[in-house]
Amino acid sequence: MRLPLVIANWKMNGSSAANTVWVKEFIPYLKEIDCRTVVCAPSVYLSQMVSLTEGTSLDIGAQNVNEHSCGAYTGEVSAAMLSDIGVRWAIVGHSERRELYGDTDCGVALKAKALIDAGLKPIVCVGETLAQREAKETIAVVTRQLSAVLDILPAQSLGALAYEPIWAIGTGHTATPETAQAVHGALRRAVLDFAGEKAAQALPILYGGSVKPNNAAELFAQPDIDGGLIGGAALQAKDFYSICLATKAR
Ligand code: PEP
Repeated sequence: MRLPLVIANWKMNGSSAANTVWVKEFIPYLKEIDCRTVVCAPSVYLSQMVSLTEGTSLDIGAQNVNEHSCGAYTGEVSAAMLSDIGVRWAIVGHSERRELYGDTDCGVALKAKALIDAGLKPIVCVGETLAQREAKETIAVVTRQLSAVLDILPAQSLGALAYEPIWAIGTGHTATPETAQAVHGALRRAVLDFAGEKAAQALPILYGGSVKPNNAAELFAQPDIDGGLIGGAALQAKDFYSICLATKAR
């Protein structure tokens, strides 16, 4: 049985003051929820978040990483630096990074490798555009994105895989539970083909894309949806907590 996992992606939001308020509000909720929780905060706030959450079960993650270990990469942050300050997870391959910053399938795989080499858990995002879905290319696209990672890394070393249809991110158009489950099932079969049954059953596959307190339970009730990657609704501690509670539907 996979323990549910709910991850907040704050994107480029937050401030020292707002982060403190969020953590102080959320920490008491931890005793009421059964899932694992991670907050992926902007890089400048990672140290603050690690220290605010010290001694709790709330883990801190980054939203990106550079694939190199050190050197002349102005403005970038390495996996070793994240590890050094107590960060345990990082998102790679978010569609905003693929679309706005040119992250490629191979580049995402190298970032995931850098994280694993430094002892961190990559959260690998895959997802199709609306045009790709309409052209019935969804499974081919997400399988291609996943394969680039599994070609160079063992599935057992990933922290999580997140299916995030681009047409659902920040739009309010959540995938139906059946639509999401169909893709999650295909992803788990792809992991099985690469790495075998044990690895496929162990890997948390999260859904992301307009998950809200009022739709989380029906998504999390699906057999291959092991939790969520939450954007907008994770900015309010109470809403994130409600989504975490919805994992009890599993
Ligand atoms: C995301 O960007 O990872 C995301 C899922 O955003 P939202 O929940 O706002 O759709």
